[in-house]
Amino acid sequence: MKSCNDDGGTPKSTAIPTVGTAKISNPIKFGRFVDDEEDAVLVNISRKKVEGNAKTKKKPTHIYFEPAGPREKIYYDPSKTKCAVVTCGGLCPGLNDVIRAIVMAAHHEYRVPSVLGIQYGLAGFVPEQGYDVIELTPDFVSRIHEFGGTVLGSSRGPQDPEVIVDALERMNVSILFMIGGDGTMRAASKVVEEIEKRGLSISVVGLPKTIDNDINYVSPSFGFDTSVETAAMAIRGAHVEATGAPWGVGLVKVMGRDAGFIAAQSALSCQEVNFCLVPEDPFDIDGENGLLAALDARMKRRGNAVIVVAEGAGQDMLEESGKKDASGNVKLSDIAALLKREIVAHFKAQNIDISLKYIDPSYIIRSVPANANDRIYCSFLGIHAVHAGMSGRTGLVISRWNGRYVHIPMDLVTKGKKRINTCSNYWRAVLESTGQPVSMKNT
Ligand code: ATP
Ligand code: MG
Repeated sequence: MKSCNDDGGTPKSTAIPTVGTAKISNPIKFGRFVDDEEDAVLVNISRKKVEGNAKTKKKPTHIYFEPAGPREKIYYDPSKTKCAVVTCGGLCPGLNDVIRAIVMAAHHEYRVPSVLGIQYGLAGFVPEQGYDVIELTPDFVSRIHEFGGTVLGSSRGPQDPEVIVDALERMNVSILFMIGGDGTMRAASKVVEEIEKRGLSISVVGLPKTIDNDINYVSPSFGFDTSVETAAMAIRGAHVEATGAPWGVGLVKVMGRDAGFIAAQSALSCQEVNFCLVPEDPFDIDGENGLLAALDARMKRRGNAVIVVAEGAGQDMLEESGKKDASGNVKLSDIAALLKREIVAHFKAQNIDISLKYIDPSYIIRSVPANANDRIYCSFLGIHAVHAGMSGRTGLVISRWNGRYVHIPMDLVTKGKKRINTCSNYWRAVLESTGQPVSMKNT
């Protein structure tokens, strides 16, 4: 059996920077303050990592993430604190919930008088763009969680960190909350650097957004649960279509540029998927081990099939689009169009007219409101971001790790991207549920 390291590695440092010493008593009256030492969360919880390796006598490495939560002493004086919130990158279920949670916690827990909403991502900091800031009051945000998208709007495209920090200084912002994906966290790191260079006391707190579940040490972030639920609905539809016609094939394309977690997780949740194609597991279409051979066998055995493909799967078989979006992300070529063409042609060559129904729920997945689990998650993320910011911490993201909310240094989450480990038991479970061959590569 191929051996795999599934633990995601152990970071060398998990220390979180601060803008200064916290000296002000926290005004929160209810609950319990977090103890940095005692409440720290182990990064790795396997026995080998906790107790050391019995066979090799290797000593354990105890690395902890800082716990999230309210501190007894805070850095910013609440009555003189101004916060700002910005949402960047693509849409994801739960963005409004996070904005709402930040505003409610800042106003009600700390009595912060002002939370500003920056419109349309980083572009909102640039005066020439002409976007007004929005005063985010509890009244303004009270019902926004009922809707998908982000009330602040979002955008892609780089902006100069100097211009962003100029804007923060002009507006007298003490804490900036940046909600976005890996690109946003990279931008946030540059903003932190610029703030340090100028010797300012402005905290930057990141809230990781990744519908694809591809950010390191974010397991998984908000919106993923909702997106799997929505993808599963499309798959169920594809299954009904496939079983409702002779030679029925249901083909569903879901999000997943570089990581196929939505495809894998929704396949697991449905159990009706026969082929799950993800970017991490290259496959051939033709040849004796390719997809068409396996699909042919399945169709002749059972008369129908459901295929779920992540948008980034099989890109090596397509001509590169050569196009990039405003943030420099390569625009993917359409794998579903290729599959449709090849599958129909394959059966046509045998005089079989298949009934192929293609469903692409991609933008529906992004734009629906968050489900119950994600709402709860978003609410905790927002509240913990406010606690972290008020304590004077900066350059961190809020995440859930080993079931606890933690602070993670920004540079850790931007170092690499999370992918499905195709020799893990997780991927084996996907293969078991679909019944597809372990590999559909010819060599
Ligand atoms: P998604 O998961 O939807 O792609 P994202 O946060 O990665 O979310 P991007 O559009 O890549 O979305 O980035 C968001 C913002 O951060 C954009 O304005 C982008 O230009 C900026 N950004 C991305 N990478 C960097 C970087 N290395 N340095 C500075 N800014 C960056
Ligand atoms: Mg990105």
